[in-house]
Amino acid sequence: NLSNKLDRAFKTLKGQGSITEINVAQTIKEVRRALVDADVNYKVAKTVTDKIKDEAMGRDVLIAVSPGQLMVKIVHEELTELMGGEKKDININGSPAIVLIAGLQGSGKTTFTGKLANFLKKQGKGVMVAACDVYRPAAIDQLNVLAEQVGVEFYAERESKDPVQIARNAVEHAKKTGKKVVIIDTAGRLAVDEEMMREIYNVKEAIKPTETLFVVDSMTGQDAVNTAKAFNDRINFDGVVLTKLDGDSRGGAALSIRAVVEKPIKFISTGEKMEALDLFYPDRMAQRILGMGDVISLVERAQQSFDEEEAKRINKNIRKNQFNFDDFLSQLEQIKRMGDIKDLVGMIPGVSKMLKDVEIDESAFKPIEAIIKSMTKEERQNPDMISGSRRNRIAKGSGTTIQQVNNLMKQFNDMRKMMRSMNKMAGTKGGLAKLG
Ligand code: GDP
Ligand code: MG
Repeated sequence: NLSNKLDRAFKTLKGQGSITEINVAQTIKEVRRALVDADVNYKVAKTVTDKIKDEAMGRDVLIAVSPGQLMVKIVHEELTELMGGEKKDININGSPAIVLIAGLQGSGKTTFTGKLANFLKKQGKGVMVAACDVYRPAAIDQLNVLAEQVGVEFYAERESKDPVQIARNAVEHAKKTGKKVVIIDTAGRLAVDEEMMREIYNVKEAIKPTETLFVVDSMTGQDAVNTAKAFNDRINFDGVVLTKLDGDSRGGAALSIRAVVEKPIKFISTGEKMEALDLFYPDRMAQRILGMGDVISLVERAQQSFDEEEAKRINKNIRKNQFNFDDFLSQLEQIKRMGDIKDLVGMIPGVSKMLKDVEIDESAFKPIEAIIKSMTKEERQNPDMISGSRRNRIAKGSGTTIQQVNNLMKQFNDMRKMMRSMNKMAGTKGGLAKLG
């Protein structure tokens, strides 16, 4: 799935010191493919990923943040931005406010009309819904049932064949009865056609709605974009309602529609029940499109999978009482790569318990790293051979003092002692080998 794909994409970035042209190219390709798989229009996906690439290349990688982590953040930010950044509310200023509902047949207009009425009623507003579908009597009944269910006033003219007149009368009636909002449900057709467009256009011209909402089925993928464009060209709607997001729709339509018609998505519909309505939050949809459920958890997984292999290796050395300076250095590097050190401590075997209460200051790592890097390969792997004269050489080579080297040696030996005694304990307790 998409999440796995992105995982893989980000894996190429893991362990790299910075975001460069080469390591970003592969990731971008994967992200683009993932977006297209999520129903995002190819052209839109390309624009997004080009933007992401520019954004990524321009950023310095903080030492504590891995490039993969940063990429996740950038992708998420760009998608959020593309879908409007902020949540946009429906405009219901007016007495009454007139909300016109447009869209294809089966997109979920009537259901949404009921939901919106329910939503506004719960805010204490007097609401009326009106049925302007003159083709299907069943559609009138459907809205009638929903209106009763949520407890709002219902308006219809069963004998009339003139949707414009019904809409006008409905608004008049809402005015007379002092409603705050009147929602006009209209008829749709199975495909975009001129007659439907003319009808909805005429209704709009006649009642001059406060807000015109275009309802679209998110399961229709690429078609959703074309339909949105056709409607917007003709009736210039104010916002989009994305329905049926409870299915396995991947939400890519949200991104494409927003990019193509440049109108905000205001609501999402996630089921047939009247309560299944949500405001549209671009950042949440960005997460959904990425298929991550939760970006943070992806980042964490990425970090963990990095840690796991290295941690396993180090753990083995600890258990064999062979913890050496290479392991120590590797742990330091892991710590540096990650953001919040405190959280990370828990991932490091053996040392976790020791470091838990210690304030870690990254600048303190520098001399330690310098000292270890001034050791020979042999010395790192056999720390016991580091005698007084070797310590002198190491201090000089690393630009530190003999005291600092001695301190590190002492820390390191204390650590090993602790590991040994933990191993012993584990041994007597019958193989409690899991440290940290
Ligand atoms: P209209 O023709 O545009 O008025 O569409 P309807 O409101 O009659 O909805 C068409 C079908 O889709 C109905 O069976 C609804 O119950 C269903 N439907 C509407 N919105 C949703 C939704 O968000 N999720 C699901 N699963 N079904 C929906
Ligand atoms: Mg309907």
